[in-house]
Amino acid sequence: MLPLDPQADKARRAWVACPNCDDRSGCDTCRQGRSCTAHWRYLLSNTGSLLHLQCPSCTHVWTHESNFGATRSTG
Ligand SMILES: [Zn+2]
Ligand SMILES: [Zn+2]
Repeated sequence: MLPLDPQADKARRAWVACPNCDDRSGCDTCRQGRSCTAHWRYLLSNTGSLLHLQCPSCTHVWTHESNFGATRSTG
């Protein structure tokens, strides 16, 4: 188990499935895509649309491509 990152802040949360523990499986709130109060991740930082996340359940740290805020246009 990793320690929680010093940047971990409950005020900055993201609702992304954890690739390590999958604690959202079986949760109706998560399945409906709503902001579940039980299953969320710390949003440590982001670089463009790439989110740097930590799971409070298993302390797994990973990056997630959100495609959010991408300003690149094709063509
Ligand atoms: Zn996890
Ligand atoms: Zn949930």
